[in-house]
Amino acid sequence: MQALFAHWHRQRHGVQRWALWVLLLVLVASLLTTLVWLAGRYESSQVQSRLEHDAAEIVTDIRAGLNRNTQSLQALQSSERTPDSWRLAAADLLRERREIMRLEWRDEALQVLAQVGTPYRSPVFERLGRSSVQADISLACSTARRLSSTAYSSSYFLPQTDGLGFEVLDMCMPMTAGGRLVGYTVATYSLQDVLAELVGKHLARGQSAAFTEADGTRLALHGTPSRGSRVYVAQHLLDLSGNTLVLRLESRLGLPSLFPNVLTALVAGMSLALLVVLFLLARDMKRRLRVEHDLGEALAFRKAMEDSVLTGLRVRDLSGRTTYVNPAFCQMVGMSAKALLHQSFPSPYWPPELAQAYQQRQAIRLAGNNLPREGHESVFMRPDGTRFAVLIMEAPLINAVGKHTGWVSAILDVSEQRRIEELSRASQDRLQATARLAMVGEMASLLSHELNQPLAAISSYAVGSLNLLSDAQNAPLSPLSSDLQTGLSRIAEQAERAGKVIKSVHDFVRRRDQAREAVKPQTLLDTIMPLVGLQARKLSVVVVLEVDAACAAVLCDRTMVEQVLLNLARNGMQAMGTQALGTQATEIQAVQQGMGAASRVLTLRVRPAASRGASRWVEFSVADQGEGIAADVAAQLFTPFFTTKAEGMGLGLSLCRTVIEQHGGFLGFAAGQPRGTVFSFTLPVAPPAHEAL
Ligand code: ADP
Repeated sequence: MQALFAHWHRQRHGVQRWALWVLLLVLVASLLTTLVWLAGRYESSQVQSRLEHDAAEIVTDIRAGLNRNTQSLQALQSSERTPDSWRLAAADLLRERREIMRLEWRDEALQVLAQVGTPYRSPVFERLGRSSVQADISLACSTARRLSSTAYSSSYFLPQTDGLGFEVLDMCMPMTAGGRLVGYTVATYSLQDVLAELVGKHLARGQSAAFTEADGTRLALHGTPSRGSRVYVAQHLLDLSGNTLVLRLESRLGLPSLFPNVLTALVAGMSLALLVVLFLLARDMKRRLRVEHDLGEALAFRKAMEDSVLTGLRVRDLSGRTTYVNPAFCQMVGMSAKALLHQSFPSPYWPPELAQAYQQRQAIRLAGNNLPREGHESVFMRPDGTRFAVLIMEAPLINAVGKHTGWVSAILDVSEQRRIEELSRASQDRLQATARLAMVGEMASLLSHELNQPLAAISSYAVGSLNLLSDAQNAPLSPLSSDLQTGLSRIAEQAERAGKVIKSVHDFVRRRDQAREAVKPQTLLDTIMPLVGLQARKLSVVVVLEVDAACAAVLCDRTMVEQVLLNLARNGMQAMGTQALGTQATEIQAVQQGMGAASRVLTLRVRPAASRGASRWVEFSVADQGEGIAADVAAQLFTPFFTTKAEGMGLGLSLCRTVIEQHGGFLGFAAGQPRGTVFSFTLPVAPPAHEAL
């Protein structure tokens, strides 16, 4: 359930993160579009206002050009002019001003006195005829007279002989002499040429200027007319007296490109960079998440390890303050981690009476920096005052950059181990005492056996002597012979008494036969193993147990059989021990080859006896890999007091044989394969009645 919840939680987090990323992307994208759009807008408005400004300037230019023309025309009107001289001057002027198509000198009744056409075109009124526009001219001139200044007519289309035509406009200027109106000068402007002459050189490439009417009808155009969507238009009124024209300035941007200007390009570039950065960030984030996940897992694994390990772990910094303890350590000393952390010397788990000694020892050990690899033993105390033995292994704590930051200690509670060692020492003492007793018993039994015959002989000699004496009883009794008789009967009595004493000792020793019980072979081995193990460690021998599970319990005197097993095992290990001393070099080689164990193995094997009826007998065997038994030694092996060892008694094997034979079993030995000796003996299987024991 919890796992499910955690999974759901993780999934929700994942979904949330994705949603955030998508939101971020959308935001950035919309921000960028807005930026590009705004940049475009800004740029258009820039272009637009520049265009408006240009249009205003163009109108000013046109007005200035027209005014200049007006002044030139005024200069033409000096009062002494004759039509001929006027014509000359007017022709000069027309050559100069290309926008003027025709100049006329008219009198007050608007009759043409003189007229000159522009030298740059064929006569412009050839097709239409001048009279058709008389009404327009008279209107303009009456306005001019009223205003006593120039006035313009409305524009009109002037078709040409070549089929084309253009829009023109008449200007009328009153002539006065001495304050009296004497006539008019009428100039015909071509609107298109006005644009070309007065505006043309100021127009940029891609711009076009046009005159239109108020409703948008185009009258004249200079430049290429613009098409397409990205066209900017600015309109400005050209207010002339008598006529108002609209100047329309159009501008097309140089290239209809994706990034219309530097600003947009910059914004676009920046957004691209932003997107790249976002992408990199996302990748980095992904990598980080993965690393975080891995790290979390490694940490969890480490924590689980520290928490589950049974060894107490403690970390101290260089000043001796505890910076870390694992749960096993807390449990060992019976304190919470909180109570242990950040504690300096003396530690709360030091027994008060030893604290000072510990502190000194600690200082020496840490200063010297030569910590024993196998650790040192110490005694710690729980809050309830109980003491317990611990084994502390200390090592310097080197951090990731190789700096020495403190000390890490592994602490083992060895109190249980100590208790077991103590127990096994006690049981060893007890067994040794039993062994000694058994030995004494055996000796007594042997002695009684050996002494019985001489005693019997003494007794029979005494009885024989007494008989001889009584045969001679008929002879006169000498006081000597009666004393001799008394002496001899005393000797016979005493010899008999000695025989009885010895028999009773013998009986006492043999009485152990009664103490038989059913014991599982495994139990027998379990009892002697601690003792065998101790000696095996001393002689570096590996002990292997092979117990056939099919073996039933045996009926035996437990202590004695244990003694036999111990004896045989000890003999076997000693046989290997002496041999190993001489061949230590090969031993080391064998260890290096990974077969060290093979050369010093003592095998204790228990299985149903194959030769004597498997269902009734169990065979115990002790196989060593020692030097074996020479023939001359073999011959006397079971002889009491035969030994090849300096400190040996030579009673072990004979005692063993006695014990086994008392049980009805058989003890023998054979050469081991490939070397060494195998001692084996049999014991009877306990009858079913004893099985329960
Ligand atoms: P002790 O051990 O006191 O010498 P034992 O009666 O147990 O007396 O052994 C008699 C002798 O038999 C030993 O001194 C030893 O030479 C020889 N012996 C006994 N067991 C072995 C064995 N497993 N391998 C070689 N020799 C042995």
